[in-house]
Formats: sequence, C-alpha cells, structure tokens
Amino acid sequence: METIAERLKSVQASIQRSTLEAHRPLNSVKLLAVSKTKPVSDIVQAYEEGQRLFGENYVQEGVEKITTLESLGDIEWHFIGPLQSNKTRLVAENFDWVHTIDRLKIAQRLNDQRSVYKPLNVCIQVNIDSDENKAGVTVEEVADLAEAIQDMPNLVLRGLMTIPKANQLKSDQKLSFRRMANLFTQLKQQYPSADTLSMGMSGDMHTAISCDSTMVRVGTDIFGSRI
Ligand SMILES: *Cc1c(COP(=O)(O)O)cnc(C)c1O
Repeated sequence: METIAERLKSVQASIQRSTLEAHRPLNSVKLLAVSKTKPVSDIVQAYEEGQRLFGENYVQEGVEKITTLESLGDIEWHFIGPLQSNKTRLVAENFDWVHTIDRLKIAQRLNDQRSVYKPLNVCIQVNIDSDENKAGVTVEEVADLAEAIQDMPNLVLRGLMTIPKANQLKSDQKLSFRRMANLFTQLKQQYPSADTLSMGMSGDMHTAISCDSTMVRVGTDIFGSRI
C-alpha cells in the first residue's frame, strides 16, 4: 500500500501534468487536501510533506482538529461542508476559509461572528447543474450575494465553488465547468479580491483544471477511501 506521502506526490504530479496540458502557468492550481473523517495523524503526515491547505466538512470534527494542531501554526483551514446557521459561530471563530456560502443569512452570521483579527475568506457555492441534491445558489443569484458580501467588513470574497452532479458524462461535466469558468471571469472583473475557482475533486480534477479551476479539493486520492 502506498503511503500518504507517496499519494500526495502523485496528486501533485498529476495536477502539474493537467496544468501544463491546459497551457496554464505552473502553480496556478492550489491543492486543498480534504481530510474529513481522517485522523489527525494523517494530516500530520501530509503536513510533513509540505502540504498546508486542509479542508474539512464537519464543524465539530474540523474544530477539534484545528485545536489539536494549533501549535503547527501555519495550516490554512478551509470549511467545505454544508453550513447550518446554528454552527456558523464555530466556523467564524476557527476557520480561515468557507467555500460553501449559499445564502445571505449565512454570510451575515459569519460576518457578525468573526472575532478573529483577519477577515474570513469566502467562496459562493454555485449549484451549476441545478441538482436537487446539492446546495448552492443559481447562476442568476450569484451577483446579488456577491454584492452583499462585498459590503461585509469581516468577509473577503475570494471566488466561486461548485460540486458537479455525480455520474454525468464527462462531456456534460466539462460544459458545467466551462459555465463556472465564465461566471468566475465575470465575477473577477467586478471584484478584484476574487481569485479562486474552487472545483475539481479526486475523480474530476483533470477536467476541472482544463476549465481554469484554481483550487482542487482532493480527499480520496491522498488519504484513501472513506468508509
Ligand atoms: C469530500 C469532498 C471532497 C473530496 O472528495 P474526493 O472525491 O474524496 O477527492 C471535495 N469537495 C467536497 C465539497 C467534499 O465534500
């Protein structure tokens, strides 16, 4: 069995290959290591290989890991799970990023509850395939939510995030990623702080990078499958 260090290297190499193939600059795609359900010792192994961006889906689990690893000092913690309003305070007080802003109320609560000196980096989650099983705003709703976030002093609008519908044809998935890329281009023109298009996971990273993703969220290919 491969170690986490070996799998991490191979994911880094494959990001590099996809980036070159897409004729994009090297290092234009960041790797977010998704450590949900995995023990702290796995995070430490990836950390020792130089990985600094980690993603968590569950508030309680994430906060426990952040607290345990606080002494490392330089991990950037990304919240990438569904966020209910009764959990926003813990997220506002502990994480560096939230990828899953899907309504005004959540943004307002995070802004009000952010007590940490640095503003919270946020992405708007877009339900690009109008999938009833997925959270996220519609394409039409992005502009209003972005404008509201722009006025919140404790949040910084960093960009957009999406999770495409599962089990669709690669060609359809690519169309969805392309629509996200276009939406992101528009957003960037209006908001200079927007520099992040969070899309691509273990199974669709290559396609996402070909469509200008700037951050891929990879769990399984680094830490192994989750039970
Ligand atoms: C779990 C998860 C990932 C990682 O998925 P893998 O297929 O394990 O790479 C990425 N993004 C989100 C939002 C997730 O919930």
